[in-house]
Amino acid sequence: PEAPPVVELRGVHAAYGDIEVLHGIDLTVPAGSVVALLGPNGAGKTTTMKIVSGLVRPTAGHLRFSGRDVTGITAVEAAGLGVCSIPEGRGVFANLTVRENLWVSAGERASLEDMEEVAYARFPRLKERRDQLAGSMSGGEQQMLALSRALGTNPAVLLLDELSMGLAPMVVSEMYEVVAGLAAEGVSILLAEQFARIVLPLADLAVLMVNGHAVRTGSPAEIEEELSTAYLGG
Ligand code: ATP
Repeated sequence: PEAPPVVELRGVHAAYGDIEVLHGIDLTVPAGSVVALLGPNGAGKTTTMKIVSGLVRPTAGHLRFSGRDVTGITAVEAAGLGVCSIPEGRGVFANLTVRENLWVSAGERASLEDMEEVAYARFPRLKERRDQLAGSMSGGEQQMLALSRALGTNPAVLLLDELSMGLAPMVVSEMYEVVAGLAAEGVSILLAEQFARIVLPLADLAVLMVNGHAVRTGSPAEIEEELSTAYLGG
């Protein structure tokens, strides 16, 4: 039988205080695939990712990991199940060195040696800078570090929120090349990105979010057509 989806959201609602921001999201991340969440600012992409990482609890609906209902899971429990997220703005510790950042993420799922080995093999530049404070590195280098922290833990699912944020176009392409490489290795990935053009080529499925609704789910080609119609005022 086919492996169950790594992540499934069914009818998920979420609110901040009294204000509901997700109004019944259905979302499936099949094992080994890349799913792109697209949509304008405030559509609910980040909140959807936070549901998966346990940072926001659904007020209704269900969350499943690999077929198991884990609705209401905490962030620590999600991390323990291999949900690994790179938040918007990267999530590196500015006042720690590269090595210290890798060390902090090593935790239960990976040794420091493994973390460093994986990181430096993929990004030799990080090795040269291993004793530099993360906060003094370029945006691209910080993003490499953030990705390394995630990868060394061999995640069940990788959540990438607006990887492009604050980065030069060249660096953005470099980052997404790494993501494409991970996808080719079979890592399951859920990513949110405002710039559809960058991520559609590497997605297996795309979900268009508007105002807390997943208004359309389809192949990258289908969603691209939808987007161009929308942008052309059709
Ligand atoms: P962006 O690309 O700007 O990050 P997004 O699609 O990721 O947008 P969310 O960040 O999920 O959207 O925000 C969805 C809605 O929830 C927005 O209206 C936002 O203002 C609101 N919101 C997000 N975080 C909070 C919070 N901590 N407290 C209150 N409201 C919030």
